Amino acid sequence: MAEQTNIAVMGVSGRMGQMLLRAVDEAPEAKLIGASERPGHDWIGQDLGVAMGGPARGIIVRDNPLDTLQHAHALLDFTTPEATMANAEIAAQVRAAHIIGTTGLSDENLAFLKAASRHAPVIRSGNFSLGVNLLTVLTRKVAAALGEDFDIEVVEMHHRHKVDAPSGTALMLGEAAAEGRGRKLADIRDLAREGLTGERKTGHIGFAALRGGDVVGEHEVIFAGAGERIALKHIASDRMLFARGALKAALWGHAQKPGQYSMLDVLGMD
Ligand code: NAP
Repeated sequence: MAEQTNIAVMGVSGRMGQMLLRAVDEAPEAKLIGASERPGHDWIGQDLGVAMGGPARGIIVRDNPLDTLQHAHALLDFTTPEATMANAEIAAQVRAAHIIGTTGLSDENLAFLKAASRHAPVIRSGNFSLGVNLLTVLTRKVAAALGEDFDIEVVEMHHRHKVDAPSGTALMLGEAAAEGRGRKLADIRDLAREGLTGERKTGHIGFAALRGGDVVGEHEVIFAGAGERIALKHIASDRMLFARGALKAALWGHAQKPGQYSMLDVLGMD
């Protein structure tokens, strides 16, 4: 068998952590070598398999990235912004490819990741599915083809436990639309509307976030013109989609030079 890629799963008990673990276990090219959780979590110090109610698997769940990442070629990180920053520092030290699905990162967090990417590959995406990445390419092209007389709105819906809004994917789609128009999203985004907002500003990109139930993730980009409307929509119905995409990024990423990459780079899309 070809050499396996050593993978660590951060936040292993989380909704995505559990999916990432399954994706690693499914892939013959990948080998789980570490797993982390939040300090104080019940699983810390326990064998991962036993903590999950099954047989031992020889991996102790750790609460600090240095112990978790010692032999890692890549880490899968769908946790919190704070945890992701701590992981980035150690990933840079041990030169492991950092695959980041965590959303809600601040500009300061992004600057930190940029600095970390001088030492190791950092692959970050608001969405690791093939379909959404294709949707960003389409969104950019449609936005470039249509003039500012088409208003762009991004609508998303997620499960009731999601803590940040708009979703990382909605922002990715907004960025793609802004790029298609040769603008910076930060200059033209309307993240929320309430009260007497006045008329919609021409050329702006609006966002709406719905939350409820167990919705995995739905995103729609609407181009609304006079007398016609184009809608591009993606529906995710299984979180394994993101986990398999993230693992693909890890297998690709650990062989790359230090730098910042996106899922479009992994998929070879432009
Ligand atoms: P979740 O169930 O809350 O999982 C996060 C996990 O990280 C939890 O188990 C949490 O532990 C753990 N954690 C917190 N602090 C930690 C630390 N310092 N060290 C290690 N682990 C720590 O949330 P989720 O639904 O899996 O989502 C996680 C993130 O991924 C969110 O930002 C979400 O938006 C994002 N996401 C991205 C994509 C994508 O494709 N990019 C797809 C889905 C989700 P506790 O619960 O004990 O605090």
